[in-house]
Formats: sequence, structure tokens, C-alpha cells
Amino acid sequence: MKNIDDLWKSGVTRRDFVKTCMTVSAMLGLPFSMVSKVAAAAQNADGRPAVIWLHFQECTGCSESLLRSSHPSVASLILDMISLDYHETLMAGSGHQAEKSLHDSMTANKGKYILVVEGGIPTKDNGIYCKVAGKTALESLRTAAEGAVAIIPIGTCASYGGIQSVGPNPTGAVGVRDIIKDKPIINIPGCPPNPYNFLSTVLYYVTFKKLPELDQLGRPKFAYGRRIHEHCERRPHFDAGRFSKAFGDPTHAEGYCLYKLGCKGPATYANCSVTRFNDGVAWPVGIGHPCIGCTEPDLLFKTAIADKVQIHEPTPFDSYAPVDLKDKGKGADPLTTGVIGLAAGAAIGAGIMLAKKLPDAPDKGDDHGKTE
Ligand code: SF4
Repeated sequence: MKNIDDLWKSGVTRRDFVKTCMTVSAMLGLPFSMVSKVAAAAQNADGRPAVIWLHFQECTGCSESLLRSSHPSVASLILDMISLDYHETLMAGSGHQAEKSLHDSMTANKGKYILVVEGGIPTKDNGIYCKVAGKTALESLRTAAEGAVAIIPIGTCASYGGIQSVGPNPTGAVGVRDIIKDKPIINIPGCPPNPYNFLSTVLYYVTFKKLPELDQLGRPKFAYGRRIHEHCERRPHFDAGRFSKAFGDPTHAEGYCLYKLGCKGPATYANCSVTRFNDGVAWPVGIGHPCIGCTEPDLLFKTAIADKVQIHEPTPFDSYAPVDLKDKGKGADPLTTGVIGLAAGAAIGAGIMLAKKLPDAPDKGDDHGKTE
């Protein structure tokens, strides 16, 4: 895609575009006045970074999550705001043609392209357990990393090794950071990660020409700086000591806290409870499944789903303000619970909600491509 007009032609409306820029700005913790700067950077064809996307030991779920999002504009925007030069499961070319395209992009954009890695990297026996075009994943990663300005391991497999690295780890699978030591690496873990976390990271780079602040695991703080538990809509139930006892029983149906069913939310740093999936309408805990801690290296596939994480205060604080109870004092009104949960959201949530509230009515047509 060469200019912003092509974006409109691909079916993305200006309203979708502005909503996405607002959501990204809110996630990044930027003031409202910065939305126009993010939008301007996204529309700048010259500023669109070249991206090379490699696949190793993985299920392609991270790419699928991006492409199958319920609102097609998210995938369109992500793919149109970057110059995706190589992606094994999306590109039309194959064989030597595909390899040439990879080589050409690495040469033409040396020192400037962003390398995205999806999947773990097997290291045992010189990495022979994953090969593409006759080269091991280990070789391909090292070669592509040389000319990259930064690397984004997308998903938990590329970030930490993922399911392949669970004991006995027969292929010696690891994450990118275990191999590449001399490049900036921004981990976007999750199984799958939210597409907005990837889009926001890329747009932050495009807008500010620098990488976002990272935590000790290499994750952008804007997306992984707080625990899921802090903004969960079931949190009032947790604080009031109301826990689901079994899947499908009344305590589960009433939306009680899932901690005793193994929810890892109190130990998991991610923004799922605020950003959510499927265009912001759903997320696992919201529909009744405990968080499995997929953004944490020591939780996903390494702690049984039913096992509880250790937390300091599993019962209500003595000083906690009373919740308006109904049903003979045994439970909170689910509506009240939901409202309280939403009210607990920080400015990021408020900004995302604001973006969602923009009307969905189709554009009249004449505002396409105009910049306000
Ligand atoms: S469901 Fe999980 S994340 Fe939500 S309040 Fe309970 S323990 Fe915390």
C-alpha cells in the first residue's frame, strides 16, 4: 500500500481509522491531543516501517488472532500501516520467489526493518528440529536479526519458548531473547496476544521513532504494566469473598470470582481485562474461564490450569467498603458488580471506551481521506 487513499479503498472507513488511533493512544497512555499525531504518523507512507515476519515452532495462532478479529478493520489497519515484506503464511509467493523477497527486503532495508518472530526456536542438536528453506530457525533468526533495527517476538512461544519449552523440552526450544543479545527486543507475549498490543507498539515506534518503555521481561509497560486482577470486572466479588465453586454451578453463572477455579489473574501482567478481544467485546475471564497466565513465562503450560496462584489476601480486607448485597445478603447484583468493575478501570480503559462510543454509522463517503 503506497498511500492513505489505498486504505480507504480497501474498505476501512475514516471513522474506523480514527477509532483505532484513539484506542491506540489511550493504550499508550497518551493525552487526547496526541491522537492527531498518531494518526498523522499512521498516514505517512514514507514512515511506514518495513516488517519481516518469521514463523518457527508455533501454531500460527498469533497471526490468526490478528487476521480473524471480528472487526476486519483491525487486521486491515495493522497490515496497511506497515510494509509487510515477508510473512510465510500470508504472502502469495512461495519457494525461491519467497526466499528472494526475504533476501531483497533484508538488503534494501538493512538496519531499518522490524523483525517479527512468531514461535519458539529449537536449539538442541544445532536446531535441526525446525527448518525453512533448508535453514534452521536458529540460522534464519540470527541472519535476519543482524539487519533489524528491533525485534518483536509476538506470542508466548517467541517470547519465552512457549509450550515447546515445557519439560522435558525435547527440542531445546527457547525464546528470542535467549539467543539474540545485541538488539532491542520488545516481547508481546500472550496465547494469542491482543492485536492492539502489536499495533500500538509499532505505532509508538512510527510516531516517536523510539521504542516504548519495557519491563524486566522485555514487555511494553503500557500493555503489561498492571495485573489483570486490578481491572477485572469480577474483582468486587473477589474483594467481597464470593468465589465460583464449580464450572456451571450458580456461583459460576452469577459471575463470581474465578480464583478458586485456578484464575491466574492476580499474578498475570497484561491488559486483557481492559482491552479485551474481538473488537473489545469479550475476554476469557469475562465469559467464565479462569485466566491461564499466558503472558507469564512461569505460568502458561507450567502451572496446572486448576492450581491457584499464591496471593497475599485471598479474603476481603476488614476495612473494605461494603458492596450492596441482594439475595439475602449472599451476593452482589451482577449489574452492580459490572459497573463497579468498570469504574475501577484506569484512564486507559476510559480512553478505549471513548473510542468505542464513536458512532458506527457508515461514513457518508465524502470524508474519506480528509485530515482534520
Ligand atoms: S476472576 Fe481472576 S482476575 Fe478476576 S478478580 Fe477473580 S482472581 Fe482476579
